[in-house]
Amino acid sequence: MADDNPLLLADFDFPPFDRVEPFHVRPGMRDLLTRLEGELEELEKGVEPTWGKLVEPLERITDRLDVIWGMVQHLKAVKDSDDLRAAVEEVQPDKVKFQLRLGQSKPIYEAFKAIRNSSDWESLNDARKRIVQEQIKEAVLSGVALENEQREKFNQIEQELEKLSQKFSENVLDATKKFEKLITDKKEIEGLPATALGLAAQTAASKGHENATAENGPWVITLDAPSFMPVMQHARNRALREEVYRAYLVRASSGELDNTNIINQILKLRLEKAKLLGYKNYAEVSMAQKMATVERVEELLEKLRAASWDHAVKDMEDLKTFAKDSGSPEANDLAHWDLNFWSERLRETKYDINEEELRPYFALPKVMDGLFALANKLFGVSVEPADGLAPVWHSDVKFYCVKDSSNSPVAYFYFDPYSRPSEKRGGAWMNVVFSRSRVLARNGLPVRLPVAHMVCNQTPPVGDKPSLMTFREVETVFHEFGHALQHMLTKQDEGFVAGIRGVEWDAVELPSQFMENWCYHKDTLLSIAKHYETGETLPEEIYNKLVAAKNFRAGTFSLRQIRFASVDMELHTTYDPSGSESIYDVDRRVAEKTQVLAPLPEDRFLCSFSHIFAGGYAAGYYSYKWAEVLSADAFSAFEDAGLDNEKAIEETGRRFRDTVLALGGGKSPLEVFVAFRGREPSPEPLLRHNGLLPVAA
Ligand SMILES: [Zn+2]
Repeated sequence: MADDNPLLLADFDFPPFDRVEPFHVRPGMRDLLTRLEGELEELEKGVEPTWGKLVEPLERITDRLDVIWGMVQHLKAVKDSDDLRAAVEEVQPDKVKFQLRLGQSKPIYEAFKAIRNSSDWESLNDARKRIVQEQIKEAVLSGVALENEQREKFNQIEQELEKLSQKFSENVLDATKKFEKLITDKKEIEGLPATALGLAAQTAASKGHENATAENGPWVITLDAPSFMPVMQHARNRALREEVYRAYLVRASSGELDNTNIINQILKLRLEKAKLLGYKNYAEVSMAQKMATVERVEELLEKLRAASWDHAVKDMEDLKTFAKDSGSPEANDLAHWDLNFWSERLRETKYDINEEELRPYFALPKVMDGLFALANKLFGVSVEPADGLAPVWHSDVKFYCVKDSSNSPVAYFYFDPYSRPSEKRGGAWMNVVFSRSRVLARNGLPVRLPVAHMVCNQTPPVGDKPSLMTFREVETVFHEFGHALQHMLTKQDEGFVAGIRGVEWDAVELPSQFMENWCYHKDTLLSIAKHYETGETLPEEIYNKLVAAKNFRAGTFSLRQIRFASVDMELHTTYDPSGSESIYDVDRRVAEKTQVLAPLPEDRFLCSFSHIFAGGYAAGYYSYKWAEVLSADAFSAFEDAGLDNEKAIEETGRRFRDTVLALGGGKSPLEVFVAFRGREPSPEPLLRHNGLLPVAA
């Protein structure tokens, strides 16, 4: 039986994606976990502080789990079914348990410490040093270094935090669900686009108004984003916008769904946890595994804030003027519930870009050819079809080989381009199938080559008509391919830090966002954007509008992100959860400097700020801006070299490949950046790209 289970194959060149069925998952994962459990025990028993007796066996164990569990997770994302979902849910707790056990292994931790303290330490290369340091840090942060009562206390805090985060999300969800607004008079929802009306009627029907239609109602508005946003952007009825906005703003802030006290408890426990681990505050714990430091983040946020403020003030003036010119009575008294509405009207007037009408210029095969040509120009690699070489999970999936300039394969990737709503998750992503690794090399080769998959959800081709993309979808493909390039073009042979592995997560969006920049590069875009029937190039006037629309209200959007990041930082650094100031006082103080229109006194957005209280972004929200700074500055190296200078672009591209794309997590991200850019990152290019530099006098 076990021999027939593809999840238990001893070895393969590429995962047998075509053979795994839901019924393989339970026995396969259980058997695998038992085997790995045994290997872990062996390792702990025989562990020695050497590469061969610690790191290599550890890499084999974690890799096996990553590869096999990765297959299962991947199939769940692209070929989901009730059976598969049930099987995954059932084995997931065992998998998590094993990983916790692995992460908290004291013998492994002690052995890594012994390497760190040995006389051999100085002779290790950077990548190996980083692996050892990272393993020690991870163990320390998961409480392994603590003794007795302290460790017990730590585990208690972790469990308590887990519960509180869970409760926080549930409250947000329940509070969001609780609000619904029934509308029977069509006049009250004038302005709403057809899709939003359709959704509102569908919601009404599901709430007992069986005969609801998009055309004649009744309609039900909720606080879910797809219902809430169109109201804010398009409903002409100001009173409706106000009612919905106010409801949204105070979600989970009163009654039995009140998150206020939960937030206070979370902040207290995080502080306590930080102190147990020997840190001053929770932000320092978060930064211990990131590229940034508290000081650098505060400095950056202030710099961006100061640069964005005047532009955001001007955005507000523009809105007022526009509303006034449109004859609106509320022009002199714009409130929070008017901003989205009027900025949408202004956007329509100024840019008049209809995403749907651009689709014929972006045929998927042409876009991919353009993207591969760009990778060739910048990095000297070629992407060649290799269909048939590896088993795939669906006949639409394409397989590619990436070759270097000497025509040798360096990596492979799968591309699953089209939407399949019944079995495939929405969105676009890139993920690791294999990472490059010396330890996992087979067939007499020096390393195992990296393999990635890229998944998108494009409209499938119909007859002769290719899949046609929106401009945003084009950007997304460039973005994901940037991640894939960092994974695939790595030269790092140590599996733990090869490709995207071991890269601090506030630095991991550098290559992906970097690639997006090329979508706005005229020659690159116009070489891709050809009408699929006529071959006509995208008119220059539309290209100019795309570029201009990119920075629409950039100051306002920048301040909004800075408000979130700054509140997050303050609450996790200087804020004293037992002191006299409330979390709302902190938020108001931050808002004074980051919001042109002061928030309403009853603003309780913190009660639904799931990123930092129920997600992984605590003392990490800044990373959105941090990564934008890195990617914009990296792109500016190409601008400095001259975007029209082929030779200079090629040289800069090769340097980018040899540093950012090659070194993986084997060097600190700051060193990698400096190796590419010749200096530390500067926020100037981001401000310039966003049109946020001060206007020259
Ligand atoms: Zn990304």
